[in-house]
Amino acid sequence: MRALVAEAPGRPLRLVTRPVPVPGAGEVLLSVRACGVCRTDLHVVDGDLPQTRYPVVPGHEVVGRVVSVGEGVTGLAPGDSVGVPWLGRTCGACRACLEGRENLCRSPEFTGCTRDGGFAETCVADARFCLPLPSGWDPAALAPLLCAGLIGYRAWRMAGPADRIGLYGFGASAHILCQVAVHEGQKVYAFTKPGDRRKQAFARSLGACWAGGSDEDPPELLDAAILFAPVGALVPRALGHVAPGGVVVAAGIHMSDIPSFPYRILWEERGIRSVANLTRRDGLEFFARVADIPLKTTVHRYPLERGAQALEDLRVGRFEGAAVLVPRPTGPGAGRQRPRPPRSPRPSGDTPHRSGVRRARRGRCGGS
Ligand SMILES: [Zn+2]
Ligand SMILES: [Zn+2]
Repeated sequence: MRALVAEAPGRPLRLVTRPVPVPGAGEVLLSVRACGVCRTDLHVVDGDLPQTRYPVVPGHEVVGRVVSVGEGVTGLAPGDSVGVPWLGRTCGACRACLEGRENLCRSPEFTGCTRDGGFAETCVADARFCLPLPSGWDPAALAPLLCAGLIGYRAWRMAGPADRIGLYGFGASAHILCQVAVHEGQKVYAFTKPGDRRKQAFARSLGACWAGGSDEDPPELLDAAILFAPVGALVPRALGHVAPGGVVVAAGIHMSDIPSFPYRILWEERGIRSVANLTRRDGLEFFARVADIPLKTTVHRYPLERGAQALEDLRVGRFEGAAVLVPRPTGPGAGRQRPRPPRSPRPSGDTPHRSGVRRARRGRCGGS
């Protein structure tokens, strides 16, 4: 089988041919139908994450089909569709695991980081950490939900109740979360790189009531801010944008240093917190919620051998939405393929989702 391997920090991905892995006890062998490309994959390839075990096959937004099961696996059988997220395995015995905070396990395994992930034709996963997937989705459209969607969802929950929420960095996560937040009646303020009019238009098309550069101030104070861009300077920027009692949530696994800032922008019970990893419960909750939301991902497909190009395109922000590696093409078009007719007009194909119907019933905010 073919796989893309990160052999050492800072080395480009290399396409190799390897024997098909054999699932151990408690594991399943999956045929990879699609694997999303996440900014964390860039950090793995660049050598930004000290926990990475090289050589490693990156990729932790795996949509796969079970080919065979190892000894002792119950609940999964050949032919089942499952998702493999970033949290690949936990110890189940440390204090965090016992308290239901397995995202903070002291000896975790991370897919595509400490164990091989989905930038390959096949991969092996711990059956207990595979997530059941919603039906009626194209695998490529579903893949970004497994990290961009899930981590975004966890960050969004940590932002707490908010009428006005700012999303800083409008990439794969924000393009999903924006739709979730708008569906929940929140006003979304999208911040992109300064001058990135294309991404700002994209954000508006997904329901954001305001979109501007990260060097701009929103037209009103926010209740919460979520930072997806790995830029530490955005922390004091966002703090300056949230109202008293508001929170700034950093959703990325890696960020450049945060510059010092005056205490007065933290004063009045503003908070800063980070989000680390995810739990299986997050996955179950998120996918249950997805079933009720008219959500659509915008995806850009790459064959496996062009995985390095996908990472470079992500690095420079060459596309809107998410990149997805499709080892073996499964059909034309992207987006959700529902088993039943949609209730409102919804475009298909690799085009941004126009959510004008929902925007029309949302309150307007100031600004453009
Ligand atoms: Zn643990
Ligand atoms: Zn990720």
